[in-house]
Amino acid sequence: MSPVVELKDLDLVYVTDREAVLALQGMNLSVEPGEFISLVGPSGCGKTTLLSVIAGLLSPSRGEALLHGRPVAGPTPKVGYMLQQDYLFPWRTILDNAVLGLELTGRLTKETTKMARELLAEMRLGDTENQYPSQLSGGMRQRVALVRTLATDPELLLLDEPFSALDYQTKLQLEDLVSSTLKQRNKTGILVTHDLSEAIAMSDRVIVLAPNPGRIRSTFDIPENIRLTQPFYAREAEGFNTLFHEIWRDLEPSERGEG
Ligand code: ADP
Ligand code: MG
Repeated sequence: MSPVVELKDLDLVYVTDREAVLALQGMNLSVEPGEFISLVGPSGCGKTTLLSVIAGLLSPSRGEALLHGRPVAGPTPKVGYMLQQDYLFPWRTILDNAVLGLELTGRLTKETTKMARELLAEMRLGDTENQYPSQLSGGMRQRVALVRTLATDPELLLLDEPFSALDYQTKLQLEDLVSSTLKQRNKTGILVTHDLSEAIAMSDRVIVLAPNPGRIRSTFDIPENIRLTQPFYAREAEGFNTLFHEIWRDLEPSERGEG
C-alpha cells in the first residue's frame, strides 16, 4: 500500500507585504497507513504549518505534498483536523455540533446521524445530545470535537495540540481514548504536541523539528513494548525514561526552558 502522506523536498514560504518567511525547508516525510506519528519542537518551528499543508489549506512553495500518491489539492473529507480549541458552536446542541462536518460535506443522512450518535455514546456522551457546549466540561467538549472529526470517517487525523488546554488527569484519559479509537478504526494520525512524554506514549514514531527554517532534525522509532502499551501505562514501560532523555537532548535549548 502507498503511504497515506508523503512530503518530498517540501518548502513553504509565507509571503506578507513586508517579508517572506521560510517556514518549512526541505521536508521529507512518509506516513504509512495506520501509523501514528508525533511532531515535537519549539514554538514557531512550523508544526501547524506542516499540518495545514497536509490538510490542503496551504500549497507547497516548492516540492510536493501527496495523499496516497496524489498531490494535495485543497481540503478533503478524507482528512480530519482537530485543534486545541474545540470550536463548538455555542448555539448548537451537542448532537448538532457532532454532525456539523457531515452537514458541511453534504452527507447528513439518517444513517450518518445514527453513526454520529453511536460515536457519542461510545465516548460516554450519549446523555448530552440535547445539551449545549456551555453545559459540558473541557474534556467532554474535546470528546465532542473528536466525535465531530470522526463522524465524517476521515482516514487521516491531524491533531494540533488537542489536549494542551486540559487538566492533566483529563489529558491522560483523552490520550488513551484517542489512541484506542484510532487503532480500533485503523486510522492514520499525526499529532502535534508540546508534551514529549505524550508524544512517546502515543506514537509509533516521534519527529523532532528544528526552527528557522522549520525542518526535520531527527526521527525516533518507538520500541514495540512502549507502542503496544496504552499511553497511560506506556510512561512506566521499560526504556521510556531513557528514550525521553535521548529525545529531550535533541530538542532546542529554548524548548527545554534553558534558552
Ligand atoms: P508552530 O506551530 O511550530 O509553533 P507555525 O507553523 O505556526 O509554528 O509557524 C512557523 C513559522 O511561520 C513561524 O516563524 C511563524 O511566525 C510563521 N508563520 C506562521 N503563520 C504565518 C502567517 N500566516 N504569515 C506569516 N508567517 C507565518
Ligand atoms: Mg502551532
